[in-house]
Amino acid sequence: MSRQTVTKVYVSYGSSILENFMDRATGGAGVTSLRDYLRNDVKAWATKEWGDTAKIKWDRHCGCGMCPCSPGWRVTVNTDSRPFYGDPIEVWAKADDNGVVTVGK
Ligand SMILES: [Zn+2]
Repeated sequence: MSRQTVTKVYVSYGSSILENFMDRATGGAGVTSLRDYLRNDVKAWATKEWGDTAKIKWDRHCGCGMCPCSPGWRVTVNTDSRPFYGDPIEVWAKADDNGVVTVGK
């Protein structure tokens, strides 16, 4: 089975909760990390958009191979039934100032 990255999901947050998420790349400690906070919503979005074979994988170098300035999730899918999906689309997972999460463009 081969898999292909079909979406890159970058992360951002509102200003007032910035202090809770000092480090997007490493995610800080435990459940207080931004990536853990957003994970379930990103997984649900990926499944809705891409079906049951969708998996999400954190990648510190998701948007930049040179440095961890653009961490995010790669959404991959099983390509057995469809060999080519084209270039990955790019979307955002955002937590607003109240901690409400939205995923998508
Ligand atoms: Zn960079």
